[in-house]
Amino acid sequence: GPITTDMKTLTEEIEKFAKDKKIEIDTLKIREEYRKEFLGNVSHELKTPLFTVQGYILTLLDGAMEDSKVRKKYLQRAAKGVERLIYIIKDLDLITKLEIGELHLEMEDFDIVELIESVFDLLEMKASKKRISLVFDTEYAEPIYVHADKEKIQQVLTNLLVNSIKYGQMDGTTEVSVENLIKNKVIIRVTDNGEGIEEQHLTRLFERFYRVDKSGSRREGGSGLGLAIVKHIIEAHNEKIYVESVVDVGSEFSFTLERARAPKGA
Ligand code: ADP
Repeated sequence: GPITTDMKTLTEEIEKFAKDKKIEIDTLKIREEYRKEFLGNVSHELKTPLFTVQGYILTLLDGAMEDSKVRKKYLQRAAKGVERLIYIIKDLDLITKLEIGELHLEMEDFDIVELIESVFDLLEMKASKKRISLVFDTEYAEPIYVHADKEKIQQVLTNLLVNSIKYGQMDGTTEVSVENLIKNKVIIRVTDNGEGIEEQHLTRLFERFYRVDKSGSRREGGSGLGLAIVKHIIEAHNEKIYVESVVDVGSEFSFTLERARAPKGA
């Protein structure tokens, strides 16, 4: 039939579709609501960087191109905007896969200490721009083996550390620690001494696109999906994630993982 945006017709079509496929109508309606909200959020997120890039290109076409210094500066900024768009789209792709359960965990035993150190190396540059020191604190000097999806835990650590830098203060410190918990569990804590989060936001922090300071964090260039991705990954592991925070003192995000035995020969 003809494509229509008329809501009544759309609802009727959904109902017919559900009847044909013998799907429960409520779930479909919820899914449709969810899809609409998601799309609305997505276009909103993409708008800011797109307008920025468009702004630089139009200014260049408008004459800024004549000056070679200005030209280079504006092109670099446009490129940064495009880079941001790519980050947002990568996060969208990841959260979609996580939400529809398309991403499977590839469990292995690995040394979490080594992984933390490699994430530190990758973020050293970013941290040094705010003169933030990344500190690893552990009571054990030796490797700590965990059983998890290494690549996804790397993503979790990256998102938490990037946030601690973004919302951290100049000359601040981010500390990561690994401790034994009861039974075969370890707890990994990422602690910053940044701006902190007001208590009223803590329960909603892990929702997609939720932000404490709407303008502030968008300026910082995130997708608003970082913590939602973190929560999905940790819950897919059947583990837990916690947040504690005090305004102007700092925040601590922590999550549990299953401890593994050291491999033979290690
Ligand atoms: P984004 O950083 O892209 O906005 P996130 O999902 O990673 O999205 O974080 C959601 C919000 O939680 C942020 O906008 C910020 O307000 C708050 N937040 C996250 N981590 C921290 C932190 N370490 N310190 C203070 N606020 C934080």
